[in-house]
Amino acid sequence: MKMKRELWLTIGMVIVNILFISFFTVLAVESPPQLIPLEELPEETPEIIALREKLEAYIDDYTSDMIEMSEHLYHNPEPGYYEYESSKYVAAELEKYGFEVEFGVEGLDEEYNTVIEKLHNARNLPVAFTAKYKGKSEYPVIAFTTEMDALRGNPPFHGCAHNQQPPVALGAAIALTKIMDENNIPGSIWVIHLPAEEIPPPDPTAMFNAGYFDEVDFVLQTHGGVNSGVFNRPLAGTGAAQLINANIYEFRGKTAHSAGDPWNGRDAGDAVRAMWMMIDMIREHSRPEFRFHGAIVETAVAPNSINDRVVFDHWVRANPGLSKEDLNQKVEQINTIAKAAAMGTFTDVEISHYADYGSGVTTAWANALGWYYTKMYSDEGMTSDEPGRQASGWDVGQWACWSIPGIGSERGDWTIAMADVPPTAGHSQEKADLTITPLGHRSLPLMAKRQAAVALRLVTQPELLVKINEELAQWREYGLEKGYVTEDVFRLKNK
Ligand SMILES: [Zn+2]
Repeated sequence: MKMKRELWLTIGMVIVNILFISFFTVLAVESPPQLIPLEELPEETPEIIALREKLEAYIDDYTSDMIEMSEHLYHNPEPGYYEYESSKYVAAELEKYGFEVEFGVEGLDEEYNTVIEKLHNARNLPVAFTAKYKGKSEYPVIAFTTEMDALRGNPPFHGCAHNQQPPVALGAAIALTKIMDENNIPGSIWVIHLPAEEIPPPDPTAMFNAGYFDEVDFVLQTHGGVNSGVFNRPLAGTGAAQLINANIYEFRGKTAHSAGDPWNGRDAGDAVRAMWMMIDMIREHSRPEFRFHGAIVETAVAPNSINDRVVFDHWVRANPGLSKEDLNQKVEQINTIAKAAAMGTFTDVEISHYADYGSGVTTAWANALGWYYTKMYSDEGMTSDEPGRQASGWDVGQWACWSIPGIGSERGDWTIAMADVPPTAGHSQEKADLTITPLGHRSLPLMAKRQAAVALRLVTQPELLVKINEELAQWREYGLEKGYVTEDVFRLKNK
């Protein structure tokens, strides 16, 4: 009798436990799948294939113009915020094909505007532009983004291959407008120039916050650059981006004659040296996923006067695996180091925080579409369905891709994979030089065809956009739950 009662008790406990566990499993937000099998994509119908083949023909016709544009930008590099001639040159080409161009951005956050005005005289982003081609109906709006800033070398150069971005975007966009016009396909095609990708603060995020992307349904971007090796299928999701926190440390000392009165001076240069040395010390006691980047951006110039003002720009970067909280704690340490450096050199320091880069998100549905055409236009044997790393979002600051879906990314996840590409380091002269070789030339129409083919599917199969947006909503829920994003980042339109 006693045995029986204990048995019933045990069974009862098991049932309660199962109910309890399933209750919490239902409550916990699960990650949406990171991959969609390509067979689940709607069929590329014979009609769509015929349109795509026409697109390819238009892009082939435009290839010599693409090469010319890439070479022109390569030979006339302008660093971020100073892309005055490059942006005029690219916009003029779009106007030739019936796009309406508008420069500058209204409604930017005042704090952001003050920062870029102070650093680069770039209030309202005068080199940013949108070129709009309105087709049979306004929506959906497919936007191809371009960046055209060169790296800040001495002299500036296109070590990140941004000279390839405008020709690819234009090749795809111009061909699409023709196809959409000829076949009465609804939708608008925009080309948006995003300035200064290479340096903070992230302009696309600021533009997004100002409502610049409110009408955009999908963003397509390719970073440019010809990479070596086999390209694995990118995964969707969040948490893969590098988090960055950027700060300016302005040290002020007291000038005096370096030979006659050095004891009356206080050297701001000493303060930066002390700070940099201590950053190297803390490096050993930081997780290996951290990166520390510093540059002296303003300095005194005369050895015979004590440096009275030196400005140090310093970023802490947290690679995947570290959280926002880890990053904030590390920045707190760096700020303490700056104050200690000032204290030890009897100088003053003013710390201005000026940029945050977040964890972006991409969708498995959009990635599946991207992958379908990446495989199609890559060289034989250069892609692998083996999952690779998570793709990062289209906004370099990563915040905007939580609201506006897209593919193409700031890490070059969507570069076409070509055979026999020699390995080159990122941000190197060799990488820049590769863009003006026959290999670099051949990559332009391939990238443009991939971009255009993805866009064609979105305007001819609107159910795909619905699926992508549904999935993005699930990622938002997941991102909120896991702390990758906060609600105030979202900007959800209701058209
Ligand atoms: Zn770049």
